[in-house]
Amino acid sequence: MDLGYSGRTAVVTGGSSGIGLATARLLLAEGARVAICGRDAGRLQAAAASLEGGDRLLAHRCDVLVREEVEGFAAAVAEWSGGAVDLLVNNAGQGRVSTFADTTDADWAEELRLKFFSQVLPLRAFRPLLDRAESPAIVGVNSLLAIQPEPHMVCTSAARAGVQNLLKSLATEFAPRIRVNSVLLGLVDSGQWQRRFEARDDRAQTREQWFGALAAKKGIPLGRLGRPEEPARAILFLGSPAAGYITGASLEVSGGVSRHI
Ligand code: NDP
Repeated sequence: MDLGYSGRTAVVTGGSSGIGLATARLLLAEGARVAICGRDAGRLQAAAASLEGGDRLLAHRCDVLVREEVEGFAAAVAEWSGGAVDLLVNNAGQGRVSTFADTTDADWAEELRLKFFSQVLPLRAFRPLLDRAESPAIVGVNSLLAIQPEPHMVCTSAARAGVQNLLKSLATEFAPRIRVNSVLLGLVDSGQWQRRFEARDDRAQTREQWFGALAAKKGIPLGRLGRPEEPARAILFLGSPAAGYITGASLEVSGGVSRHI
């Protein structure tokens, strides 16, 4: 199936690691022009070098929670792309592990700000560029926690549910011009989990053992964590003209860990 990305422009926030980086790589392989951002300039530069995108790649340092930086990113993309953006992938972020008892008011405010404004600020800044494209789309990267909350990730789960609600509203408000969809992730072996593996208590555990035990503990029917390119493929499909009649949808990429019908 031709996803129709050749010659199109895509923006991936948090494109310097994990799922965002895998998404940028697949988009480049499909012939798209890709702009990525991240906060850490060194990580961003290393990602750009590994992508080898030539003039089809723009790597711009930007914190998606700082409005001026997001506007600067959009301006740089507009100049580089000629003014139109076909796909915005709102991916930047991370989860917070905490129960209600150990989540302070400041933690709540920070987490709600991260989850909502990592969507809201890029949406505002890139909407005029999306409006200039022929068949634009937005894909929000979200978590299964939105519909299947976990008590040990209480504020992340609640914030994820709110983001899912927001994306559903936007699918109506932005129609028929811009399609808005989301992916709901289970556990994907990316930077976040690598950091947790590196901080493990039992230093004797190998990477394979640690990830295997994690998959078993979480009861993942497919028996393993996802690989970053697996959600990336789902993102590419939902964001492509091949999904032209799909909006307001969410696609679970979780190895079957969802218990919902
Ligand atoms: P990674 O840590 O591997 O990548 C996160 C990316 O986001 C990095 O490029 C990071 O770069 C960037 N980022 C983080 N915060 C900001 C910010 N404020 N502004 C700009 N860039 C930022 O994680 P994943 O690939 O796993 O995560 C991708 C998305 O998927 C996240 O939103 C995450 O919450 C979500 N997710 C992941 C799951 C998983 O199991 N992996 C499960 C459910 C959801 P830098 O730090 O340099 O800014």
